[in-house]
Amino acid sequence: MSYKQWKQLTCTTKYSYISEWRFYRAKKEAMKILEGSVRDQFVIVEDYCKQILATNPGSTTLLKTTMRGGKRYFERVYICLKACKDGFIKGCRPLIGLDGCFLKGYCKGVLLAAVGVDGENSLYPIAYAIVEKENTETWKWFVEILKEDLQVENSSKFTLMSDRPKGLENAMKSLWDGAHVRYCVRHMHSNFKKDFPGLLLKQLLWAAARASTKEEFVKCMKTIKDVNESAYNWLMAKNASEWTRSHFDDSVKCDMVLNNMCESFNSAILEARDKAVVTLLEKIRFWLMVRFCQKRESVNKWRDGISKQIWDLLEKNKEVAKKCHTNRANAFNFQVTHETDGSFVVDLIALTCTCRKFELNGLPCSHAVAAIWKRGLNVLDYVHDYYKKESFIHVYEGVVQPMPSPNKWPSSSNAPILPPPEYKLPGRPKKSRKREVDEPPVGATKSNRHG
Ligand SMILES: [Zn+2]
Repeated sequence: MSYKQWKQLTCTTKYSYISEWRFYRAKKEAMKILEGSVRDQFVIVEDYCKQILATNPGSTTLLKTTMRGGKRYFERVYICLKACKDGFIKGCRPLIGLDGCFLKGYCKGVLLAAVGVDGENSLYPIAYAIVEKENTETWKWFVEILKEDLQVENSSKFTLMSDRPKGLENAMKSLWDGAHVRYCVRHMHSNFKKDFPGLLLKQLLWAAARASTKEEFVKCMKTIKDVNESAYNWLMAKNASEWTRSHFDDSVKCDMVLNNMCESFNSAILEARDKAVVTLLEKIRFWLMVRFCQKRESVNKWRDGISKQIWDLLEKNKEVAKKCHTNRANAFNFQVTHETDGSFVVDLIALTCTCRKFELNGLPCSHAVAAIWKRGLNVLDYVHDYYKKESFIHVYEGVVQPMPSPNKWPSSSNAPILPPPEYKLPGRPKKSRKREVDEPPVGATKSNRHG
């Protein structure tokens, strides 16, 4: 039936005719109900925090409200579940990704998250918070509680990674003084290309970021200087330890140059991001509950005490090792020569190789594998504990406990919490990714029927 036919029919049939005015009133009524339920969620946010503490004892929940004109308004909420906290302390690498993502749905503000890396090199959520906006004050508030939660006494053992969001740099300087800092290279490149576009410079920048030794880094930078001196100066103004593997702290056993774990976290909770405050928090907790359980059970499928992801990385190194020629200096020191890359020095006591990949990741590089084979030893014995089954079991042994429905939560006798005063119901939330300045608009790359 065409639209015209349908309209004719509805306008002539007595019972199915709905006037525009009636549509308008129905919409207004629906908005009222919806707004009410969104507002109700702010009222129960305190009960939710109490319920979290009752079902997951040892967790941290912090609710910040402000009093204005005798009324109590919602400001921020921070949650770090006991299982996440304990798992990180027990066996995750001291690497924390920090990121904020905008909430454009029924809960306004920014979701701040701290995410680590587990023994499969995949994301490990630590803590999350809803704050009004990203600035020095909110980041300080978040990283200070986080530091306390993770019982950090010596910041210098930690590496913090981010996209350099607004306010975080100041917060880290004052509260995580001495911690190593890394900035996501993809984010850095998107700033770099505004002044220095082009594929060649992009490739050279990535080569410099991925260079694992200082010599290789200097070589890459020299090539950049030859191509474009201003681009070279732009990069040299940055602190090398913030973006290139060659200058990374090797005690953290992770050579990531991208803040991928935070991106993966944001996309995992995408569906929750446009929900009202308690639904959003509860969806994240539910996702964590299921994830922890799945991870705990997945260990049974591991082969030889390491995950498939790590197994695959070692297999790649083994393939290269087959092309190496190894000579012993003594029982633990080797000179390993690769067909095309030249010679490397491997020390099996210090667990180092002059390519630096062994110490950067805690996994034997191809040269180390060749040396281990020469001694007739087992490669798996040289894999860092962070990747081993025992650590993984400890990391995920805490249980994110299930929660009953809201009518079974303890209710607070405090003044009810209202949404932030500037709160307004949003329109339909946008879910598509914000495109880069130089990216073609959606559909521009598709050819039409004739094209
Ligand atoms: Zn090596």
